[in-house]
Amino acid sequence: MERTLVLVKPDAVRKNVSGKIISRFEEEGFRIVALKKLKLTKEQAGRFYIVHKERSFYDELCEFMSSGPIVAMVLEGENAISRVRQILGATDPAKAEEGTLRKLYGSNMGENAVHGSDSVESANYEIPFFFSGLELVG
Ligand code: UDP
Ligand code: MG
Repeated sequence: MERTLVLVKPDAVRKNVSGKIISRFEEEGFRIVALKKLKLTKEQAGRFYIVHKERSFYDELCEFMSSGPIVAMVLEGENAISRVRQILGATDPAKAEEGTLRKLYGSNMGENAVHGSDSVESANYEIPFFFSGLELVG
């Protein structure tokens, strides 16, 4: 059993498809361990994406991720990290496979609708970034 952090990004919340995205994960058999809607400050977005701080897109990414509300959730299931990444599709929605969430709801490389932790190490940073132990209902 594995846990992973998923974010419905501001573009998808603006498009009013957060329910559809959450529903897809339920249909795929994941259990929702924690869920909330919130708005990040640019500084908080910068800390969440600190691994990308040297990348050319970092400033734009932090602007975008703090541009509106997001929905954060922890999902649990067998191989949750890699299975969620498959359901998301490629980072660039134009290159994402048919039926993936980024293909369905993403707009471009930056505004790609959904985030999912990419490794156990990332999940171990990202889950406590958004949720305290008490909020993980299990
Ligand atoms: N991103 C971007 N431009 C790029 C690459 C990434 O704006 O050239 C954004 C995009 O929102 C992506 C996030 O930065 O989801 C993190 O990038 P990463 O390469 O980790 O992609 P992911 O793991 O989200 O597929
Ligand atoms: Mg990544």
